[in-house]
Amino acid sequence: MNQTPSPARAVIVPVTPLQQNCTLLWCEATRRAVVVDPGGDVDKIQAAIAQADVTVEKIWLTHGHVDHVGGADELREALGVAIEGPHIADQFLLGNVVSSGAMFGLTGVRNFTPDRWLADGDRVSVGELTFNVLHCPGHSPGSVVFYSPLMRFALVGDVLFNGSVGRTDLPGGSHPTLITSITTKLLPLGDDIGFICGHGPGSSFGQERLNNPFLTGEA
Ligand SMILES: [Zn+2]
Ligand SMILES: [Zn+2]
Repeated sequence: MNQTPSPARAVIVPVTPLQQNCTLLWCEATRRAVVVDPGGDVDKIQAAIAQADVTVEKIWLTHGHVDHVGGADELREALGVAIEGPHIADQFLLGNVVSSGAMFGLTGVRNFTPDRWLADGDRVSVGELTFNVLHCPGHSPGSVVFYSPLMRFALVGDVLFNGSVGRTDLPGGSHPTLITSITTKLLPLGDDIGFICGHGPGSSFGQERLNNPFLTGEA
C-alpha cells in the first residue's frame, strides 16, 4: 500500500486567558508556515515557530475578536510578513482591539489594518498549500473559514466547535445567520472534513452534523 504523507502539519498554541487555539500550520515540502489567529502571547508563538524550525510567510485571521487578533500586529512587525483576513465586515472590530482587550483584561494588544481583506471565493496559499476562503458570518460579521479540499481539512475559527457553535451575543452577531453559514457553507463540503476550531478540541463536519445539539435541533 502506498500512503501519501500529509502535505501539511499543524501545531496548536493556546494563547490568552481565553485559551484560543492559535495554529502554526506549515507545508512539509517547503517548510513555509502560516500563523492563524495570533491572539496574544507572541513569545509563546515565536517559541513554537523556533521549535518547529519553519519559516513563517503569512498571518491569517479568521475574524476580528481580540483573543484571535490581539498579537497580530506585533507578530507582523516581528516577522515582516503580511496579515490576510478576515472579511472587511470585521473592520470595526480591528479598530477596537485595544478597547475590547480592556474588557477581557488583555493588555499589550494593538488596533491595526490587515494587508489583505478576504472575500468569499478567495484563495490563500502558504508554501505549496492552497486554501479556499469561505465567508461565514454569524459569530462575527466578517468571520471566514479556511478550507483545503485536497487535505479534507478546515480552520473554522469560532464559527463551529466540537459540540457547540460560536456565541452570537457580541456586536454584529446573529445566531440564525451563523446556523445558515454552517448548514449551507460548511456541512455540504462533506462529513469527512476535519477541523481545528478557535477553542477546545477539533472535530469533523460529520461528527458535528450528527451530534452537535445546535445542528440536530436539540439546542
Ligand atoms: Zn470570536
Ligand atoms: Zn475566540
